[in-house]
Amino acid sequence: MDKYLVINAGSSSLKFSLYEMPTEKLLINGYFEKIGFEDSFWTVKINGDKIRKEGYLVNHGDAVSIMIDELISNKIINSLNEICGVGHRVLHGGEIYSESVEITDKVLNDIVDLTKFGPLHHPGEIAGIKAMMDKLPNVKQVAVIDTAFHQTIPRDNYMYAVPYEWYLKYKVRKYGFHGTSHKYLTEYMKRELNKDNVNLIICHVGSGASISCIKDGKCYNTTMGLTPLDGLVMGTRSGSIDPSILKYVMDETGKDIDEIMDDLNKKSGLLGICGKNDFRDMLTMKLDGDENGILAYNMFRDSIIKYIGEYYFQLDGLVDAIVFSAGVLENNILLREDLVNKLSKVMGISIDRDSNNNIGFGCELDTGVITSKDSRIPVWVVPTNEEIMILRDTVKIINNK
Ligand code: ADP
Repeated sequence: MDKYLVINAGSSSLKFSLYEMPTEKLLINGYFEKIGFEDSFWTVKINGDKIRKEGYLVNHGDAVSIMIDELISNKIINSLNEICGVGHRVLHGGEIYSESVEITDKVLNDIVDLTKFGPLHHPGEIAGIKAMMDKLPNVKQVAVIDTAFHQTIPRDNYMYAVPYEWYLKYKVRKYGFHGTSHKYLTEYMKRELNKDNVNLIICHVGSGASISCIKDGKCYNTTMGLTPLDGLVMGTRSGSIDPSILKYVMDETGKDIDEIMDDLNKKSGLLGICGKNDFRDMLTMKLDGDENGILAYNMFRDSIIKYIGEYYFQLDGLVDAIVFSAGVLENNILLREDLVNKLSKVMGISIDRDSNNNIGFGCELDTGVITSKDSRIPVWVVPTNEEIMILRDTVKIINNK
């Protein structure tokens, strides 16, 4: 059987999963953390057993060497020749990449150039790619790019109303993120609805969150922008705010732009409002009657409603389905019911309580429709699966050559 690796590298972390094809069976996965720090450690999972080890991982190359040792010592592979390809998650493809692509020297150079758009993500991803290329020089590597799916967004929707030369000279525009997830969910819904030219509103709401508008089966708009900071209120990110706030707070506090950006990316969102970035912790505060917990919940919920409303109008109300996905919406029954209730009058939908209460963590099901049969638009809960999308794109690209 053919085996493929999926790699998701961060600045100080590297996640890997090895799959068997065509069954898409997960054989082993693991997570290296604190790479570059003396207290680095990693966990490896095989057949449900989780093993934790510690040791100083100087760089991503050390993590890849240990990963290979684990694959061989656990007899998942006998030799590296069994690995047919590697798929890497890459954040930003700029305007260059509208699809996943085999990593050549040119592609790698482009990814390095695009670090200016993804300074928090690209260095780690590049380190992961280089380490894999170094250890597996004969194995093809594929970049599966988070912005790629959104490249079908028309100009009317991707331009910002700023001096036009910002776009011409510096490529300032909306790119969108979570594309691998939005693509997975779009393909899933096309199969479920047995329709290719679907109109969907897809809500990926985890600690990072974005909503996409899918028109005629393609991405038509999305909430994240030049970077993943834009759009919805998130766990630690502000989402869209008045840009003048930046200068005002710099002047008032004496902070520089990097500190302000750090505040907007890491100290805002739910965390900024109520001191908790995890949705569950915020919800506990709200249910206990804490004022800031209630405020954070309401702001989070209403920012989702705002963009569903925008995309409902962009689709002329012709929506085949609304999709709820990622950590928060796959699991939280209360928020899902609240959202459906808020949308009910305008959209002619109502909640099916039995169905909603039966989907999510600790429930019988993980997928299904949570609106009543007579609702004009069905609301689906569908678990996202970015890893499988990376795997499928990697297999497709390597075998089409
Ligand atoms: P990311 O991939 O952006 O890190 P996830 O999609 O994993 O995010 O979602 C993480 C969020 O999902 C957290 O805010 C967490 O509180 C929330 N979450 C996870 N499980 C549950 C649950 N059972 N109920 C409610 N929220 C949950």
